[in-house]
Amino acid sequence: MSSSRARLSWLRRLYVASALCLAVTVSGIAAGDRTELIRVRATSARLQAVLADGIAGSETLRELIDTLQRSDVIVFIAPQVPAKELIWGELHFAASAPGVRYLRVNVKQELSRMQLLEVVAHELQHAAEVAAASHVVSTKTMEALYDRIGFEIVRGQHETDAARAIGDRVRHEVLEYEEALQAAQRKH
Ligand SMILES: [Zn+2]
Repeated sequence: MSSSRARLSWLRRLYVASALCLAVTVSGIAAGDRTELIRVRATSARLQAVLADGIAGSETLRELIDTLQRSDVIVFIAPQVPAKELIWGELHFAASAPGVRYLRVNVKQELSRMQLLEVVAHELQHAAEVAAASHVVSTKTMEALYDRIGFEIVRGQHETDAARAIGDRVRHEVLEYEEALQAAQRKH
């Protein structure tokens, strides 16, 4: 790949943990019942399918979701409306209530299935970073966390090495899994 293409690709991969705050309905979810709660929730059929493909094919994603499942956060994954030109995905702190913190991942729905898989894994890693920091209870405290553990890529937008790495790893694992599956099916 030429360096100019690499730069373009990088620009399009500005995943962001940003300062925007979105309202999420807090009612209707039993915060105390940890065994029954599904803590990672995709809000569209396509995103649910992407998440299912990722869980089927990637040990890394399964571990990440297990980690979130043991936490006090609930993560909603939803299409980014309106779509932003350069941003594939963003994590927002939505709300907190006693015993539960709500996060929202917005992803660009125009992306391919594999791109969505990568960005969902990437943003869920950020969700796990927030889950591990119990003092994060607002947009402001989330910003303070990323000032400490991340690095600024654009003013007010932060990134972590772990999130960059995990998106790549999950995409590779799913590709390998699906190729192996197809090869096994061809033998029959
Ligand atoms: Zn990121």
